[in-house]
Amino acid sequence: MSVRVRTVCGVQDQLGFDSMPKKLIKVTPSRLGVWADCRLRFRMTYLDRPTPPRGGPWAHSTMGAVVHNALKGLFDLPADQRTPDRAAALVGTHWKDDGFADREQAMVFRERAAGWVHDYVRGTDVTEEPVGLERWVSAPVGTIIAEGRVDRIDQRGDELVIVDYKTGRHALTTDDARGSQALALYVLAARRTLRKPCTKVELHHLPTGTVAAWEHTEESLARHLSRAEESADEFQLAIDTLAAGGDPEVLFPASPGRQCGWCDFRRSCPTGQATGPALDPWAMLSP
Ligand code: SF4
Repeated sequence: MSVRVRTVCGVQDQLGFDSMPKKLIKVTPSRLGVWADCRLRFRMTYLDRPTPPRGGPWAHSTMGAVVHNALKGLFDLPADQRTPDRAAALVGTHWKDDGFADREQAMVFRERAAGWVHDYVRGTDVTEEPVGLERWVSAPVGTIIAEGRVDRIDQRGDELVIVDYKTGRHALTTDDARGSQALALYVLAARRTLRKPCTKVELHHLPTGTVAAWEHTEESLARHLSRAEESADEFQLAIDTLAAGGDPEVLFPASPGRQCGWCDFRRSCPTGQATGPALDPWAMLSP
């Protein structure tokens, strides 16, 4: 009788003394999202080695990353220095022009991002120390290991609150917060990682200065977990079947659609190319 732990493709096999092998599948929100969008993209992202060449940077992603870095930098400062002007200046510190049409366009959006961050800090109590910033959380729950990087974890009273910054075009609603599988998995992972109660999630939308919040129940978390487990079982079965000699085209079919316009692997995917023209790298910026 022995215990063996093996890690293959993000899976831990734990063989108990008298139990059947029990697979805990590593699940991140991005892995689930890619699986739901397109299985071929999943294969190219997580399985094909060497990884097929990716497309270049996207301007909206650059902007999102800069805003996240500026806010992280702000909380690294002593509380009395976390002013709106300092926050806006941090956008300049972290700025990159990657993905923008030209310098002129980049400067317009740099100013816009600085305005978002300035107004966010002016309207938010930023004097409390977060429990986590860009914090990696990971914990076994059910049949998966839920993990990912959380933008910010606050402690309010005895409870942790999961905070996710958003910089997309559209304001977010309570339904978005309630329906976010990513946030629910972060709750499950954070409460185990940090050993504190956690039920509340918040989407902080910088462009509109709005917060969409939701307080999970054990039932709503269980529903999210069950869906994540289902997807994890599906992709793990496909991975295992591929490793056993299965046909990659059958196991990981292309799902052509609108997303092919901005897919990072479009250049390696004739099916995606046939769906229509590629978007310009700055096409997903707000007008
Ligand atoms: S281009 Fe479209 S079909 Fe091809 S991998 Fe990307 S999302 Fe899938």
